[in-house]
Amino acid sequence: MSKPVAYLEGKFVPLEDAKISIMTHAFLYGTACFEGIRAYWNEDDKQLYVFRLLEHFQRMKNSTKITRIFLNQSAEELSEITLELLRKSDFRGNDVYIRPVAYKSGLGIGVKLTGIENNFCCFATAYGKYIDTSKGLNVAVSSWAHVEDNCIPMRAKVNGAYINAAYAKSEAVDNGYDEAIFMNRDGHVSEGSAENFFMVRGGKLITPSVSSHILEGITRATLMQLAKDEMGIECVERVVDRSELYICEEAFICGTGAELAPIVSVDRVPVGDGKVGPIAKKLQSLYYDVVRGKDKKYMKWCTPVF
Ligand code: PMP
Repeated sequence: MSKPVAYLEGKFVPLEDAKISIMTHAFLYGTACFEGIRAYWNEDDKQLYVFRLLEHFQRMKNSTKITRIFLNQSAEELSEITLELLRKSDFRGNDVYIRPVAYKSGLGIGVKLTGIENNFCCFATAYGKYIDTSKGLNVAVSSWAHVEDNCIPMRAKVNGAYINAAYAKSEAVDNGYDEAIFMNRDGHVSEGSAENFFMVRGGKLITPSVSSHILEGITRATLMQLAKDEMGIECVERVVDRSELYICEEAFICGTGAELAPIVSVDRVPVGDGKVGPIAKKLQSLYYDVVRGKDKKYMKWCTPVF
């Protein structure tokens, strides 16, 4: 049995004892940034592999720089803390979701980013699917516009920004869809509620560019590389129009939580023939092998815990 341990204020503590004050700045104003990381259990190797651990903490260090949440630890040290947490929690036999948070830990009122104490905390939990990726998703274009870089930088994975995602996801689900696709205020496609977006047109993979107010996703980068190296498909990063959603051959969203989730309709218009497409299917199966450490060519992305 695992016994989840958290990291808080420089110490490992039982998860149930990891508490913060209701006066914490991050709680009052959303002044924190986070990562979502997955670790996959490989039964053959009897090993838990964390997927692209260092890259997640390198992104977190960039997030903290943008949000001025200064941490003393390097990306390498934060990775080490996480590995120690997973060992102490003993998640053998389980897939795991890891949630590190860098936050404004000072207490009290005052909307600002400077002059407030900063801290780092982390917990992990046994976790399965975020989205059922076995069948295609029916998605809707959201009536909510996506936050923009000079509003709340999405690149920084700011906790407070996720109210925007929550609005879009809830609207979609309340209206009978599985997920939302965000437009920017300029009318171009941005991303899903907490996933990056891809489509296939003319056999080519296309994804909104990094200037489309997206999070620069690690799954996005992983899939672009796998498509190129394993399938010989180059991905074009460019502005994507709304009308392209209705005529593309395939579409899917991706993220650490969502993994690769194919889309079969947008606003009830079937994507392609309304079935999961061959490129999405193949990439998904490659992705699952890679993250679980079954494809030995990509072991550099899998950090063993034990
Ligand atoms: N966009 C947003 C807004 C997200 O929250 C996420 C999940 N972290 C992603 C995209 C996908 O990013 P990643 O592949 O790095 O998990």
